[in-house]
Amino acid sequence: LLKVTGLQKSFGDHEVLTSIDLSVRQGEVLALIGPSGSGKTTALRCLNGLEQPDAGRVEFDGGPVVDFSPATPRRERDSLRRRSAMVFQQHNLFPHMTVLQNVIEGPVQVQRRPRKEAVAEAVRLLERVGLGGKHEAYPHELSGGQQQRVGIVRALALKPSLLLFDEPTSALDPELVGDVLSVIKELAQEGWTMVLVTHELAFAREVADEVVFMDGGVVVERGHPDRVLRQPREERTRRFVHRLL
Ligand code: ATP
Repeated sequence: LLKVTGLQKSFGDHEVLTSIDLSVRQGEVLALIGPSGSGKTTALRCLNGLEQPDAGRVEFDGGPVVDFSPATPRRERDSLRRRSAMVFQQHNLFPHMTVLQNVIEGPVQVQRRPRKEAVAEAVRLLERVGLGGKHEAYPHELSGGQQQRVGIVRALALKPSLLLFDEPTSALDPELVGDVLSVIKELAQEGWTMVLVTHELAFAREVADEVVFMDGGVVVERGHPDRVLRQPREERTRRFVHRLL
């Protein structure tokens, strides 16, 4: 579904991504793991067009192929954004809008879908994640876990071909993490294609088809979750995994 080659990104003279290759097949879950500052979030933001890479190619099956250079026009980068939807670390909901308004905002305002259809879809999705009674609530009236589930619904409502999760549980109280992870797991089982940045290694082992370990802007090791997490080949991976598992 997605192929990324030679992705490079610096902020000023700080090189954050040296040269990253990634690929995800339809229906697969890729987990990106690695120490803080290793460039995972930046890589995810480049896939979604939120960040402009300095070089590299991002290619979607049957969709846009973008060859990046510092001169790549903005509209090429934006063409990626229609393919994927991102769930952020903090849910980023609009505080002055109800749950329902938050969910239909993208489909109606950006995708120009009929409001009635967007509302029906939002209601169905909210029901699915156990938030059927919360349409009219405002974000501050919800728990962190509920807010994050609305964040997931908002991404699903865009009907993307790829879902991107940026440490979706790292801002949550421990007792709220499970609900959000179980929603993500259900989506994986339903066949959604996802790239998931996470520190929850046990969860990555459970849901991912492939784990990619990044450190210092490069991919150090990749492979089947059991192999990478239980029998890492690289010393850097071993140290990281032992610290967290
Ligand atoms: P974490 O697990 O802590 O989120 P990460 O692996 O996702 O880390 P990134 O968030 O991608 O890492 O950040 C990689 C490096 O890039 C960090 O050193 C960060 O300070 C830097 N960086 C990220 N975004 C910017 C920006 N907009 N401007 C300048 N530097 C940035």
